[in-house]
Amino acid sequence: MTRTEVIGTSVSNGIGLGKIHILKQKTLDINKEKIDQDDTLEEIEKLETAINNAKIEIYDLKDSFRDSLSEHDNNIFEVYKMILKDKSFIREMKDLIELQLYHADYAVDYCISNYINALLISNNEYMKQRIHDLRDIKQRIIRNIHGEDSEEIDKIVRKQIIFVQQLTPSLAARIAKKKVMGVIAQEGAAYLSHAAIILRGLGIPALNNIKVENVNSFNEEFAVIDGDKGKIIVYPDKLELEKYRAYYKAGLKNYRLIFKEFLRRRKRCAVTTDGYKIDVTANIGNLQELDKFNDNDLDGIGLVRTELLFIKSNKMPDEKEQYNAYAKIVKKMNKKFVVIRTLDIGQDKAFNDINTKTNSSLEVLRGISFSLVQKDVFIEQIRAIMSTSELGDVRISFPMVNTVNEILKAKNIVREVYRDLVRENKPLRHVKLGATIETKEGVKNIRDILEHVDFISIGTNDMLEQFMGIDRRDFKSERIKSVLPEFLAIITNVITEAKRRNRRVSICGEIASDPLIAILLMGIGADELSMMPAKIDKICHIIRRVSLEEARKLAYTVLECDNIDAAEHILNRV
Ligand code: PEP
Ligand code: MG
Repeated sequence: MTRTEVIGTSVSNGIGLGKIHILKQKTLDINKEKIDQDDTLEEIEKLETAINNAKIEIYDLKDSFRDSLSEHDNNIFEVYKMILKDKSFIREMKDLIELQLYHADYAVDYCISNYINALLISNNEYMKQRIHDLRDIKQRIIRNIHGEDSEEIDKIVRKQIIFVQQLTPSLAARIAKKKVMGVIAQEGAAYLSHAAIILRGLGIPALNNIKVENVNSFNEEFAVIDGDKGKIIVYPDKLELEKYRAYYKAGLKNYRLIFKEFLRRRKRCAVTTDGYKIDVTANIGNLQELDKFNDNDLDGIGLVRTELLFIKSNKMPDEKEQYNAYAKIVKKMNKKFVVIRTLDIGQDKAFNDINTKTNSSLEVLRGISFSLVQKDVFIEQIRAIMSTSELGDVRISFPMVNTVNEILKAKNIVREVYRDLVRENKPLRHVKLGATIETKEGVKNIRDILEHVDFISIGTNDMLEQFMGIDRRDFKSERIKSVLPEFLAIITNVITEAKRRNRRVSICGEIASDPLIAILLMGIGADELSMMPAKIDKICHIIRRVSLEEARKLAYTVLECDNIDAAEHILNRV
């Protein structure tokens, strides 16, 4: 048992120790005989079932790697699904059976081999690597037609180093599921191949270009795979083995740490299965909430309810106190955006030292209309917010905007404050300005308002009360579902207007944290969903399981429902 090195090409780094297991791959015997006319239906059926089963297998593989491969790497399987759904490609195969009376396996072999031959003459290395994908699909369908089982794969046990003559991406994925120590291939695992991408993504060491005759005699023998140096060492000597064991343990620890962090982040990140990223942000109402999350876990703060920050003291704090509170939030978010909403008091939200009733009437002002009357309070607040702009990406939103005039007046004040702060030599950065749309008037005047703001937030809590008569203190998603088509249509109109003017839209009311409604809101074009921090995880989790296309379809189906029962029926099926 002399120490032997077998050299290959490294395509995935890392160290693995285990027994080499040579995977037997059956050759596919294609039936080249012609069939009788009467048998065409049966062969077509075989073909269709085999393709359908291949689709299901691919779907299962994709799903089982959903959490461990990056979205991009997992999309490899999406390419497969596309090929399997390609109508002209399937038609070609059926024609060979129906018109030229070939067996189903021959039709598959012939059609896909033609494509492969066309790619073989390509000069483009990436295109060439797609040959393995096509071969993979071909073998998969033919195996399904022949009805072969997976007994060879079942023989693989944990911690083996698997040798494969012809590696394909789906084979790589199936082997990887067995928790192996490494994969070595004669071909099919070039660096750009999907097989190698999958193995790299999962941190499994892998080598390509290892000839079967160089490993045949080492079946079930102990070896080290060195994915960094591109070699396998069979019967390593004692010292070498110790060194590799130490590397392996250190590497594993390191890899696990990196992987854990990667998984943690990916779980939080709201990217749909077709790669669309929607921002999921937090609504903050007190500073203690900041300790409950990590800035990595969200895309920003979509709403700081400033009136709630100071509610305990029951009086409006001065500029310095306000600055300290806002600065704490902005610093915590580490350059991610923070939307600070100016005071939204009035009705049930109030401070002892501030009277929200105007002198001239008993009308209670709320939101921006109140701030425009109580200018001193407003200016003090704008000064405090603007002063934090040098610490990160600070944005201001005005609540309860009804008219464009309110926006113009508010912007004038912001401009004055800006000039004053510049004169005082305060370091400042640009601050985007937005409107919270949540009243009937605001929706009516949306076009004019949009002309003068950088973004809008849709406050569905107030909107539900104003448009649908649903008491905001009694939020129950069940009740909201009953008015959903109508309410969704109102929001859709607002979003459509915003998109026409290229303005960003966030939804910051409670409904954004209802999993089903969140999907619908994404489907109608919301760029951001802002919610209480405790709900963020769940919403990201849901979003990661749908495609934007599915979300759009679902939203438009709900919008088209002319009665609530039909909409509920659809939603109950999701
Ligand atoms: C809303 O109205 O939806 C909103 C986010 O604001 P608030 O709940 O603070 O009124
Ligand atoms: Mg509101």
